[in-house]
Amino acid sequence: MSHCDTLARVIERIEQARLRFDAHHIVKIVAVSKYNASEDISMLYSCGQRAFGESRVQDLIQKQEELAHYPLEWHFIGRLQKNKINHLLSLRPALIHSVDSLELAKEIDKRIDTSKSYRPKVLLQVNSALEASKTGVHPDAAFETYAQIESSCPNLILSGIMSIGAHSDDTKVIEKSFLQAKHVFDSLPESAKILSLGMSNDFELAIQCGSNLIRLGSILFK
Ligand SMILES: *Cc1c(COP(=O)(O)O)cnc(C)c1O
Repeated sequence: MSHCDTLARVIERIEQARLRFDAHHIVKIVAVSKYNASEDISMLYSCGQRAFGESRVQDLIQKQEELAHYPLEWHFIGRLQKNKINHLLSLRPALIHSVDSLELAKEIDKRIDTSKSYRPKVLLQVNSALEASKTGVHPDAAFETYAQIESSCPNLILSGIMSIGAHSDDTKVIEKSFLQAKHVFDSLPESAKILSLGMSNDFELAIQCGSNLIRLGSILFK
């Protein structure tokens, strides 16, 4: 199947899931290109895809350079090491999904050069699956951490939360982690517009639980 057929089929599935949640619900696709070369990204671009996600700063640098001639929107979704913050900020990503602590938020905030008028949009990562292997704040602490970031990091545009569904074959367990994330999301102030939830194996369930941004890798780049 061509890249465009694959994308079209995924969009049809998104459409069905979206309607099960709400007829007016809009879902954004971020194509996670972390295992793919720039040529694959160009192909998806030619099918209409504009937003791409990378999980390593080094890869983002390379792909932004190679694809500089396209109007792409870059998302950062990986663990962010402190020594990479300046580099990431210089790349001006559209959204940083993986701010997983107040401490990291403060580190990013203080490195922002206020003379350059770029304030990054960021999401607080929540460990809604309560898995030790996953990073992110505990759901019970999410409300408070969100409020603390908002009040102590004036250079960040805090825009919602990101979470990764439970690693399980049991749909009920995955659903529970998504509903947990949705519950946190609903408790947040008005500034929380983005609920980044759902990947290749669980995006329909995530949308049915209210996700409005899905991060799709393997399913789009087969
Ligand atoms: C790799 C990755 C994805 C995409 O995963 P697929 O299962 O390939 O869709 C989404 N989100 C994050 C945070 C990732 O690291």
